[in-house]
Amino acid sequence: MSGMFVIKENLPFGENYLSYTLSEDAAECFMIFTGEASDENKVKLNQILAERYGVVNSVFGIRPAYEIVRITAGRWHCPKCGVDIVQSSADLTRFSVITADGDVMGEVYRQDVADVVQTMQLLNAGGCPVCESWDDGVGNRCSSVGWGKAEFFYKNCRLITKKN
Ligand SMILES: [Zn+2]
Repeated sequence: MSGMFVIKENLPFGENYLSYTLSEDAAECFMIFTGEASDENKVKLNQILAERYGVVNSVFGIRPAYEIVRITAGRWHCPKCGVDIVQSSADLTRFSVITADGDVMGEVYRQDVADVVQTMQLLNAGGCPVCESWDDGVGNRCSSVGWGKAEFFYKNCRLITKKN
């Protein structure tokens, strides 16, 4: 049940994801972000974050300027083209796209935590890398016949015979 802890910056006019770690412990996320050790008490961590980074005022009241958020790997299914999208629990920036037969069509990579969160939100909203021809993050365009792996194209090819 690997997760990713992210530092989320709450701004009056939007949110931003600043930094992340695949650590199992929010305290380590804080250490990576601040370079300081702390105990594992999440309430205390939030207090320290609020003390260190202050609070922002918004029309909804006062909230911490920063908070630690846990993200866990997701799995999605597209009913239109039938693929499953499986986010790697060991590396949440990597999403494998699997055919109904269980073959890996290709991978989708995201560079930073803001892109990962945005991609997860798109998938939660019914988005599909294949149906919508997403960029896979390393220069390929996702397609219903695969991408980034030449062998996939040949593996699934069928000979076309001419009918007379
Ligand atoms: Zn689809």
